[in-house]
Amino acid sequence: MQTNTSDSKANKNKSVSKTTEQSLYEKREKIYPREVHGRFAILRTLSVVILLGLFFIFPWLEMDGRQLILFDLPARKFHVFWLTFWPQDFLLLAFLLMLGAFSLFFFTALAGRLWCGYACPQTVWTEVYLWIERKVEGSRIKQMRLDKSAMSVDKLVRKSIKHILWLIVAGATAVTYVSYFSSQDLLSQDLFSFQLHGWELFWVAFFTLATYINAGFMREQVCKYMCPYARFQSAMFDKNTLIISYDENRGEPRGSRRSDVHTDYKKEKLGDCINCTMCVQVCPTGIDIRNGLQYECIGCSACIDVCDDVMEKMSYPKGLIRYTTQHAIDGQPSRILRPRIIIYMVILALFTSLFIFQISQRTSIGLDIIRDRNQLYRETSGLIENIYTLKLINKAEQDRTFDIKADGIEDLILLVDKTTILVEAGTVYDLPVRLRAKEENLGGRSTEIRFTLSVAGDDDLSITEVGKFLGPIQ
Ligand code: SF4
Ligand code: SF4
Repeated sequence: MQTNTSDSKANKNKSVSKTTEQSLYEKREKIYPREVHGRFAILRTLSVVILLGLFFIFPWLEMDGRQLILFDLPARKFHVFWLTFWPQDFLLLAFLLMLGAFSLFFFTALAGRLWCGYACPQTVWTEVYLWIERKVEGSRIKQMRLDKSAMSVDKLVRKSIKHILWLIVAGATAVTYVSYFSSQDLLSQDLFSFQLHGWELFWVAFFTLATYINAGFMREQVCKYMCPYARFQSAMFDKNTLIISYDENRGEPRGSRRSDVHTDYKKEKLGDCINCTMCVQVCPTGIDIRNGLQYECIGCSACIDVCDDVMEKMSYPKGLIRYTTQHAIDGQPSRILRPRIIIYMVILALFTSLFIFQISQRTSIGLDIIRDRNQLYRETSGLIENIYTLKLINKAEQDRTFDIKADGIEDLILLVDKTTILVEAGTVYDLPVRLRAKEENLGGRSTEIRFTLSVAGDDDLSITEVGKFLGPIQ
């Protein structure tokens, strides 16, 4: 009896847990976005062509005998157009990254998700993959029918061609991407002679797979669940931000109607939305813009184009779905210049000026002072001695001979194997040096000294760095 009671309790608990249990994961329903034409579709295509063109062309271009853009990690040098960034230029790179981040904030606050809709690599490559899919499998309806149909020769051929083309695009993307980090010439040689190996082979395989999966299968899932920008961009939105929105006041109550009686629809108390669902069918993330602003909306404007088309066919004014602001929808005036925008503009101007200033101050030589960490100082021949390693950087494209001097303490003695040093083009030379000074000439426990590096025969080209000379406590 007891057993039965406990059984029934267990069953009860089971049934309770059955009703409350919810899966954390939702099965993905494939989205078949309908092809769309219109002014924003043209802009998007233009953006895709230009960005892809630049991405694929840059590694093939050269300047001064080297690749135009090359992030040479083994040599620790980034070549970007005519500039070469060294590890010592970290500050410049930091400014550049901050410029990029604040530009994104600025444009998001001003015009919403322009980046997502027109320039994000996920959007750009997905557009290419969708285009291939349409060319091989046909329109949205044909794709849906093909997926539902049983396996046939036609289906097998179409699917195979599509996946082969996708893989070719993915492979070309991966090779191009890796060639930004590894000389394009060497990479092509290795690739075509089937001698690709090591990390090059790993990254080419990795990016091929990543492109194929992200643009071919994951698509809107990346925007919805993986992209952090989709989550935090709403923090940059305000009621003056340009958003893509459905005009509810004009469109509701929605309802289907015969196109030949469209002039009478007001009498039927219908809004301008004919409930054709075309805006949902073209949406690459599968949402209904009529439900209001949603974080899944990537701002691609496909729904604007298609709805304008529908409005035109119905002889209604265009713009039922349009770029607007929340204030405009609420019948209030929108403001472009507002505190948030002004702050972003000031920060952008500041970082741009700092970046330009830093670039203008760059010299083609560099000097780093590294103190010997094993010993603070030592006494030798009645003098205090400090040991350093100087890193002499020749950022020029030709070999150079450098002179090195030190001052800052009276009667300071510089001991170095050679004071005239040949440093090859684009390299760093480690020079061990010793400084000796009389204890009575020191300014205290730590005295400031200066090393001056100059190009032999060119007094204008020199750089001075400040270091510390340590002595006993006085
Ligand atoms: S495309 Fe325009 S008319 Fe058609 S359902 Fe969407 S909002 Fe309504
Ligand atoms: S709602 Fe419109 S703008 Fe947003 S993702 Fe869908 S089609 Fe693009």
